[in-house]
Amino acid sequence: MLLRMFLGSIISVTMAATNGQQEHGPPHPPPSPSSPPPPLLLVSFDGFRADYLWQYPMPNLELLYRGGVLVEELTNIFSTKTFPNHYSLVTGLYAESHGILASNMYDAAHNKTFSLAHDQDPFWWSQALPLWLTALDSNYSTAAAMWPGSDVAIGNRTATHFLPYNASMPFAERLAKVSSWLRGSEQERGVMFTALYWEEPDRTGHKYGPDNTSAMTQALKEVDDHVGLLVSELQRAGLWGRVNVLVTSDHGMTQCSAQRLIRLDDCLHPNNYTLVDLAPVTALLPTQDADKVFDLLDKCHPHMTAYQKKAIPDRLHYRNNPRVQPIILLADEGWMIIQRGDLLPTLGNHGYDNALPSMHPFLAASGPGFRQGYRMSGLQSVDVYPLMCHLLGVAPAPHNGSLAKARCLLQGEGCLDVALVAGVVVGVLLLLTSVTCLFGLMRPRGPRRPLQFRRLHLEEGEEEDDDEPLLD
Ligand SMILES: [Zn+2]
Repeated sequence: MLLRMFLGSIISVTMAATNGQQEHGPPHPPPSPSSPPPPLLLVSFDGFRADYLWQYPMPNLELLYRGGVLVEELTNIFSTKTFPNHYSLVTGLYAESHGILASNMYDAAHNKTFSLAHDQDPFWWSQALPLWLTALDSNYSTAAAMWPGSDVAIGNRTATHFLPYNASMPFAERLAKVSSWLRGSEQERGVMFTALYWEEPDRTGHKYGPDNTSAMTQALKEVDDHVGLLVSELQRAGLWGRVNVLVTSDHGMTQCSAQRLIRLDDCLHPNNYTLVDLAPVTALLPTQDADKVFDLLDKCHPHMTAYQKKAIPDRLHYRNNPRVQPIILLADEGWMIIQRGDLLPTLGNHGYDNALPSMHPFLAASGPGFRQGYRMSGLQSVDVYPLMCHLLGVAPAPHNGSLAKARCLLQGEGCLDVALVAGVVVGVLLLLTSVTCLFGLMRPRGPRRPLQFRRLHLEEGEEEDDDEPLLD
């Protein structure tokens, strides 16, 4: 009986873990099977570190995720730079798979160079297929406002609409474009997927450092106002509640210091290498004996790790691409690699190891496809792509992500919270063991048969007690 009760409790708690129990408010009505899925808007506020959410007041963003879902920390991809991570969000691929490895790249086989100022050559972007193209194949129209790569003709195609990059275009203007693309017109139906990019709080984080709370307060107030503007514009256009909105970022930010500089000139002469990218992930092409150059760099500084390409750890997913240079140097958090001098290039930076929490962004989402008031502690950023494909009913291109955990964010979807289920099962097994032991101890010791007392039969003539008296 007790066993049955405990098994019942395992099943019911496991079902709770499977279906999520943190919902508040009335659920959105499920879409009818025949209706097309709701359109999807993906917004990135560059350099929004996950813990800014708790350090600064963000009333508009809080309102958005309280009515939807929040992933408190998104584990992004290495290197934790802007272009690699924005391309991962829309392809679900690690950098070694999509080929946008850094802000500055060199392809030796084709003798081509890439930089943020010269990023238009489709050659660099064509190792992957971003969602604005994948969704075209489902006969959807798509759009992107300044999302990295969206103004490049990848495989001779772009999104149906896009805005070429223009840093001086205000947020409201970009948003107005996005809103009109989603609404469509008499001549053209609205787009099913659009992406929107904004440069803050990254710009302020670099310039003043994330530890400058007054500068960050101002920048994050502006970002939160933009979230408010986004919601009110979607409401004005009659799109709020009919569109799935994802608000996320590419990476975090950490404080740097002039006391934490690593000078390459202290270790080897610049004639020994061609510099491809510098900080905080340095990519080098040795011009001399590669092993000798590596040995010098390997011993260069206690806060810098040197890797030969073949030894780059698997977990970084940063080795299997011809664009990875023969030697990679990785600075510890907050340290900057420079060639020479004492000039700190920027007070805040990112690009460091993607295992560092300071490099992680967040993800908030709201709309008919999402639960309401649901929170998740973490997710991989490569999982966002299959999630978006699922929401759009688009067949995903090959990717490195998984829908298994991301599914928990969705309305009406069964999902398995593996950690919670494992915790419940272990807890209940411990409880069962304790109860079994307790029952064992409490059990009456059975009806013992009383031992028969039998007087020792003495033969006639024997003494009754043959013990010698100790004392007479
Ligand atoms: Zn960025």
